[in-house]
Amino acid sequence: MTAPVSGAALLRSIPGLAVREHEPLARHTRFSIGGPARIYAEASTPDTLRLALAAAAQSGLAVNIIGGGSNLIVSDSGFDGLILRYTPSRIHQPEPGLLHAEAGADLQALVDRSIDLGLANLHTMTGIPGTVGGAVYGNAGAYGHSVSETLESATFLDSGGMRTFDNAACQFAYRESIFKRRKDWIILSATFRLPSGEASALRATADGILTTRNQKYPPDMKCAGSIFKNLILAELPSAVQDRVPASVVREGKVPSAWFLEQAGAKGMRRGDIEVAPYHANLIYNTGSGASDDLRILIAELKDRVFKDFGLMLEEEVQYVG
Ligand SMILES: Cc1cc2nc3c(=O)[nH]c(=O)nc-3n(C[C@H](O)[C@H](O)[C@H](O)COP(=O)(O)OP(=O)(O)OC[C@H]3O[C@@H](n4cnc5c(N)ncnc54)[C@H](O)[C@@H]3O)c2cc1C
Repeated sequence: MTAPVSGAALLRSIPGLAVREHEPLARHTRFSIGGPARIYAEASTPDTLRLALAAAAQSGLAVNIIGGGSNLIVSDSGFDGLILRYTPSRIHQPEPGLLHAEAGADLQALVDRSIDLGLANLHTMTGIPGTVGGAVYGNAGAYGHSVSETLESATFLDSGGMRTFDNAACQFAYRESIFKRRKDWIILSATFRLPSGEASALRATADGILTTRNQKYPPDMKCAGSIFKNLILAELPSAVQDRVPASVVREGKVPSAWFLEQAGAKGMRRGDIEVAPYHANLIYNTGSGASDDLRILIAELKDRVFKDFGLMLEEEVQYVG
């Protein structure tokens, strides 16, 4: 009788798949938090990715896809399965007004390319960390624009093979897409149809946004941006709407930071995890923070807002493990 082949050995036999065992995930998250992945692998082609998924299924390994790790809270005990990254990062212009990016591209590289080509709309997303895949998954956005406004199509891999969805099929909403509900679908690329703009004006706006962002989130800050989604004013109970000052409402949304501030969140601390003293929806790791402390602090914040307003805040960050 032949011995069963381990998941790691099966994965190592796939050409083009870079495989590591017991890889500390803290190395792959902006929070610098997270225990080891049983197996960590990087796929450089759709075919490699497909074979990796098949090998994981054959070996009974749970799979989790990551991009740049900028929106992840990984458990201190890591992930007992396969962490997969899809690395292709080519960006090109198939025709005037269109930009196509592979999912592993840095969102900033796409933003920069769009500005250089005199294409508008993505420019306000300058400084959002992470990959194009992560940005499509979470319908990333900032300063008035989000992925959903200009995404023309997204190509992804599911168990049946490669498929392409148009914008409507992606079911975008505020920080939502169909990919959040179908975590087994892996985004391979996205195409954006962008209106024309004047490159130097777009760059000036983007530079201004970046300066503001760098003050709020210094580039070396170990964090995930906003922890919680903002709330849509019209969807709040009328008693809560009445308590929200009009001055805090932006684009029909109430920043969750406002609710958190009322609940006394600013400056709260647990171990090396701290709520920014200047922004109640920003939590960061001041040194050697633990995922457990982060999760407990998040639960405490949710509890406080629930007790005060009867609202359950929803995390924008994604949990792994
Ligand atoms: C300092 C800072 C500021 C931020 N500011 C903003 C902001 O202004 N606006 C905003 O929207 N976000 C912001 N974020 C959050 C974060 O940058 C975005 O959510 C980003 O799009 C995540 O991309 P990522 O590649 O890092 O994804 P990851 O953090 O690696 O993963 C996030 C989720 O995306 C999924 N995913 C990643 N790649 C794929 C893929 N190819 N196919 C399917 N699923 C995939 C993962 O499974 C995971 O569930 C900020 C984060 C930080 C640290």
